[in-house]
Amino acid sequence: MIKVFNTMSRTKEIFKPLKTGEVSIYCCGVTPYNAPHIGNARPFVVWDVIRRFFAKSGYKVHYVQNFTDVDDKIIKAAKDAGVTWKEVAEKNIATYFKSMDALNVRRADIYPRVSETMDDIIQMVQTLVDKGFAYVLEGGDVFCSVEKIPNYGKLSRRTLSDMMAGARVAVDERKHHPMDFALWKSAKPGEPSWESPWGKGRPGWHIECSAMSLKFLGERFDFHGGGSDLIFPHHENEIAQSQSAIGDENSFARYWVHNGFITKNNDKLSKSNRAQEISAKGFFTVEEVLAKYPGEVVRLLLLQTHYRNPLEFNEERVIEAQEFFGKLARAYWQLDEMARKIHAGEFVKDTAEKNFAITVSRAGGLCEEGERLLANFYDAMSDDFNTALAITNMFELAGEIGDYCKDLAAGKILPVSIDGDIILRVRDIYLEMAGVIGIFEQPVPVEKTDDDDQPELVGALMKIILDLRQDARAAKNWTTADKIRDALNAAGIVVEDTPDGAKWHRQ
Ligand SMILES: [Zn+2]
Repeated sequence: MIKVFNTMSRTKEIFKPLKTGEVSIYCCGVTPYNAPHIGNARPFVVWDVIRRFFAKSGYKVHYVQNFTDVDDKIIKAAKDAGVTWKEVAEKNIATYFKSMDALNVRRADIYPRVSETMDDIIQMVQTLVDKGFAYVLEGGDVFCSVEKIPNYGKLSRRTLSDMMAGARVAVDERKHHPMDFALWKSAKPGEPSWESPWGKGRPGWHIECSAMSLKFLGERFDFHGGGSDLIFPHHENEIAQSQSAIGDENSFARYWVHNGFITKNNDKLSKSNRAQEISAKGFFTVEEVLAKYPGEVVRLLLLQTHYRNPLEFNEERVIEAQEFFGKLARAYWQLDEMARKIHAGEFVKDTAEKNFAITVSRAGGLCEEGERLLANFYDAMSDDFNTALAITNMFELAGEIGDYCKDLAAGKILPVSIDGDIILRVRDIYLEMAGVIGIFEQPVPVEKTDDDDQPELVGALMKIILDLRQDARAAKNWTTADKIRDALNAAGIVVEDTPDGAKWHRQ
């Protein structure tokens, strides 16, 4: 059972897909007038995890995300740079993809652009005019009439008077109501424009998402997402237009999912000169952050906070996330090394080995922990996509894997008695979690900082030392044998002489 916090009802609801086994998602994309900043990246990383989770849970996922490539900001950027609006959009769309690729954000099924969806947009505006929800002004501007929309304000839970109190823009006297919003703007000299029944012009901002979701996902679909800053007016207006044009107040998106803001508070940054260097310039662009830190670390940081909560983004936190990522990566390498040995035949189940019962139950215990943590991981994801909690389960498993490898290095577990299948299952569990979170898809850094990370080396060195000691004992050179044992003892290693030879472990 998957529960989702629906902004429309302000409650966690049980998710019931529109079509069995399928999930349809529309997420508002970027206006490509500049390079995406970290705040822009958050919804796309969040939705990428949600998509992965649904796919892993057996759903076929349909994901649509737009580019607002016709917009005031793009037109202004083009004028400032002396290039065309199309060049500005193309350049920033390319940067967007580069940034998202580095964050392991998988591509949407389709990226409709305003400039390529013009016929559908014009058709929808015409429908709203025909049905009396919109009016055309002399000169060709078309506005949606909010007073004609039943329950206008139901998503943001605002009345028209609340909205007017919050509005800071000068009221256009030609509008029937101050909150009426533009569906179509008549052409201004030097600006891009398209032919329409109301003369040359371009769409208002909100209509594109209504037209695109209707075109690619149909009159009803499961999720509509975006940042919480889009609730009003953007999503409120999308609902008003879509449900009025379709003629059904239950049509359009069924679950509204909004991610919280990213904040930057520079107080703590003073500890780091590098942080000051970046923060002095204002908000971080994804490119700036990626120039200094791996994309997977940034992705992990974005997911370590539940999507609905505000997320404080500063360089100190990126450094913390990097250390955290290093610990997860260590377990990745430990499992990788064990898998290599299993495939090389070094770890094989050997029932003749007398320590078998103990060591197998140890691996079995690790595997049981893995299964338990995997179930917890999915419980967290099922509870309103709680990636923060899901990641802590993965981290706990990383710790268990580390402990297991420590015992292996200390000789408490005999390599010949390890059941390879059990260890491989633990590896599968760990990689399954990583696959949903979306990490370890780029080269994973190897971090070997102490001997616990080098069980192989420690094991080899201990074998050399104990063999030398055994030679001394065989030659009845008790002084040397005891000297070796005492020196190891002083270094925290206990040597026990057993009928099967010397065994060692840490104190
Ligand atoms: Zn939108």
